[in-house]
Amino acid sequence: MQSPSLNSFRCLNLACPTAGQSGLGNIRHRKWYDTRSGPRRLLRCSTCAQEFSERKGTALWNVKLPCERVESIVEHVTRGNSFKQTAELTHTHRTTVSRLACIAGEHAARVHDQHAQDLHVTSLQADERHGFVGRKDQPCWEATVIDPCSKFIVQNALGARTTDLAMRLLFGARSRLHDPHGIVLFTDGWLPYESLFPAVFGRPFQPKRQGKRGRFPKLQYRIPRTSGHVRIIKTSQGKRVVDIRIERAAGSRRRVDQELASLGYNTPNTSAVERHNGTARRMNPHQVRRSLAFARLPHVRQTVSDLVGGVYNFCRVNRSLRVKLDEPMGRRQYAQRTPAMAIGITDTVWSVLRLLGTVVMKNPCRS
Ligand SMILES: [Zn+2]
Repeated sequence: MQSPSLNSFRCLNLACPTAGQSGLGNIRHRKWYDTRSGPRRLLRCSTCAQEFSERKGTALWNVKLPCERVESIVEHVTRGNSFKQTAELTHTHRTTVSRLACIAGEHAARVHDQHAQDLHVTSLQADERHGFVGRKDQPCWEATVIDPCSKFIVQNALGARTTDLAMRLLFGARSRLHDPHGIVLFTDGWLPYESLFPAVFGRPFQPKRQGKRGRFPKLQYRIPRTSGHVRIIKTSQGKRVVDIRIERAAGSRRRVDQELASLGYNTPNTSAVERHNGTARRMNPHQVRRSLAFARLPHVRQTVSDLVGGVYNFCRVNRSLRVKLDEPMGRRQYAQRTPAMAIGITDTVWSVLRLLGTVVMKNPCRS
């Protein structure tokens, strides 16, 4: 991996006044030291005198394998290869693969938390994918909220298909938005979306008490004119969809029509998230249909899903997001973009090593 400049590092000591701020010139190069995977810089914060490895706060901290091998393992796993296949293809032990996949997944989740904040999004699509963990009779659904415009995964949640899953998904998604009251939400017919929509995207108000006695009425929610919820309810017989009913469950009709026009849709649909379901099933070994790959531990299921989400958002270009170049470069007519580029978080396609090497402030499981 190319060594980043000293200015890009920041002090990771939470007690230090410069903690988390880069480019202050307080990080000095103290010395080189040797590790099993090559020479590494030991850095020192001149404010608090703390010394730390240049890899502290990244997924590569304390990893004994060469970077290229770690990158290869993550690439293999996020292209739908089981841990066993990956171990054979990269000449690594199976337990090393699963350990590194978990470390990389936890790191990808923190990178997502750090970067996916204050998102300027006007519509969202939500859906759930079926899967297992542990045993075939223990379902583990993976619910996703995606921005149909940039194809960026805003929030992911795993678990049994209960109201709790929908709550974690929708409240998690809302916490990442710049304006949660300007959202048009497109979902399938699953009822928790409808019942939770006012509490998540509405504005709370306290109704007046009738008379002077008795308890105050419950907190209620008013749905702003700038938001809306559309349910696309599909009825299927066997594997075939026989009927699609569109229900405008909440919010203003005009706002929904305006959003449909800006997305270029004729009718409300959940096509972006459904297309992503296909991509996610190809990328995540535990979601590939009719495969033998299986997550035995909920933790592994969760971290691999986070890893796949991170690689999808930051490292994989999406053909539908490409933009035409003003002047063709040789035979190249388009610039390819990742979802993170389309939503404005970054302006380059990240390599997997860049994702793994991004410094995040706190790394509680490993420090
Ligand atoms: Zn410091």
